[in-house]
Formats: sequence, structure tokens, C-alpha cells
Amino acid sequence: MRWSGQEINGEQTDALPGLARLNNLVRSVRTPDFAGVTFHEVLAKSALNKVPGKNAGLFGWTINPMRGCQHACAYCFARPTHGYLDLDAGADFDNQIIVKVNVAEVLRTELAKPTWQRPPVALGTNTDPYQRAEGRYQLMPGIIEALADSGTPFSILTKGTLLRRDIPLLVDASARTTIDLAMSIAIYDDELQQSVEPGTPTATARLATVTAVREAGLKCSVFLMPILPFLTDTTAHLDEALRRVAESGATSVLYSSMYLKPGTKEWFMQWLAREHPELVARYESFYSAGAYAPVEYRKWLADRISPLIRRHGLERGREDPVTGGPRSRALGVGSPPALVTEELPPSPAAALRQPTLF
Ligand code: SF4
Repeated sequence: MRWSGQEINGEQTDALPGLARLNNLVRSVRTPDFAGVTFHEVLAKSALNKVPGKNAGLFGWTINPMRGCQHACAYCFARPTHGYLDLDAGADFDNQIIVKVNVAEVLRTELAKPTWQRPPVALGTNTDPYQRAEGRYQLMPGIIEALADSGTPFSILTKGTLLRRDIPLLVDASARTTIDLAMSIAIYDDELQQSVEPGTPTATARLATVTAVREAGLKCSVFLMPILPFLTDTTAHLDEALRRVAESGATSVLYSSMYLKPGTKEWFMQWLAREHPELVARYESFYSAGAYAPVEYRKWLADRISPLIRRHGLERGREDPVTGGPRSRALGVGSPPALVTEELPPSPAAALRQPTLF
């Protein structure tokens, strides 16, 4: 193995609480290329996850090659999923990464079952498939090839510029199935972006990746989300963001204000108290009644961003209400929701959306 000699010995592994529950754990490793990060390599029993909830219908399928995410966004709603292993939703989520090393092989077996009816599958709705660890494990090429070979439509939502590596594969796959790509770029102020999403590539690097995807002939949306109240909702920031999105050649743009549920809220508020203590009381008030910003705010934001989207000649993309990824074009076009509707409380299906695990 390429990484032999880098394994954590059994004593250290056992010392990590909760990991004993991973009865499919192969080994835990650290490497100098990823300082401070531990990878827990597991043999997954399944690759396709059905989004829970009866409203998910036939189409709520996801694949999560990893669990935990080095992009380390303070607002990440997948953070609480680490609690299952007694790992915390803060630094452990960023640095203790569970890797399904056999995900592509398991996926091929599942896709070959006669019962698989090839509904669209979403990648990147819980943890990022192109986080830096993908450079080490290279799981995505096998996943893309398996999905394309089976004729299963799929979407990828990412903040990772490593997506570029797989553009030729995606071009090839697009001849066999429907592919929807989206780059998540919420923050166009470099200092703020490095503070609140410290493991992510810059907005400039992500926009360049959008351009590379478009130059290869594929569509690519930009998720301008989450918009952070009082931090990234100024007209100046939104206007500059949309100008740059349009310049990148993005096919469409989606937006929403921040969603802050328990398990994420505590972590985000720690960041806010450290970086913007003047905003703590306003956020406490905003998110006192639930995970969504007040409806008045969402309407205000819709009124502010709507003319800017039009001014920059951008189309509005569509989110899949079940998975949270880009809506698959394999499901048909349909009419996009009105801007104000987009900022209203989500459907019961979306409210039920939970990060899926193993
Ligand atoms: S990139 Fe996505 S999954 Fe990763 S930490 Fe950020 S919000 Fe979470």
C-alpha cells in the first residue's frame, strides 16, 4: 500500500471514542500531506443512500464517499452527523474523515441490481466529494464511471477545484447520461471566506473551475448560498458576486439565506463570537424561533437580489427539494419557483432532509 508505515497503531485508534462502532474500519491513517487530519478507512456496506422521509419519493438518492469535510465551513449543516461516532461537530468534523475506500465497487454492484430503476443520484449534498482528501483517495472517477455505465443520471455539488481533474471523464459520461454540475460559492470577500470556510479554495479558483467546465461544453450552476445575514447580503457584495458568476460563464445561479439548525448553530455562533461579536445578539434574535431566518428577512433578500440577478443576465437554477443538490434535468424542466417563494419556508420534504450516513 502506498501509505504503509503511516498507520496509527491500534492503541491510538481504540482511544478514539465511538469509532469502535465502525465494525467495517480497515485502518486509521495520518500522513504529512494532511497535517492534523486522520483518515478512517472503512469498507462500506452500501454506497447508495435513500434520503429518509416518506416525502422523498422515488428520487431522493445520494452518495457520500466520505463523512466529515476538510472544507471546514462554520455553517455546515452536516456537522451533527459526526456525533454518531462520538466525534464532535467542530474540529473532529473537519479533521476526522471517514473514507469509504470501496465505494465505487459497492456502487457498481448496487447499480447492477434489476430493481435499480436509475433515478437521479446526488453527490455533494452532505459532505464534499471533491474535498482535498479526494486527491489522495481518488474515489470519484470510479463513481462517475459506474453511474455513467449504468445510465444513471447524477448531479455533483462541490466547493472543490479538484473537480477539474475529472472534467474529461464527466464529458465522456455526459454522452451516456444526464449530468448536472454546480459549484458552491457563497462568499466573494477573500478575508471573510478564509475565516468562515478555512479549508475551501478561493472564490476566484472556484469561478475558474466553473469556466473550465463550461469551456469543456458542460453546464454548470453556481450555488450562491448560504447568504450570511449582515455579512454578505449588502447590495455591493451581491452585485459583485453576481457579476463574477456571470463572467465565469455559469449556466444559472441559485441562492438562499443561511439555515442554522441545532448542532451547527453552536459551532457557527462560536465562530461569530470570535470574528464578529457585534452580530451575536442579532443572530440570536434571527434564529431564536427556528433554523430559518425570519420570513420578513427572506422577502427582503428576494427583493434585493431579484433585480441584480436580472441585471447580470443570469438564469435562476433549481434546487432539488429532497436532496438539496441541483435539480436533475432528467426530471424535466418545469417552471422555476418565484424568487420570493424560494426564500419562503421549504416544503415538508426539504424540512425532513437529513444528512444520510452509511
Ligand atoms: S464544503 Fe459543504 S460539506 Fe464541506 S464543510 Fe463546507 S458546507 Fe460542509
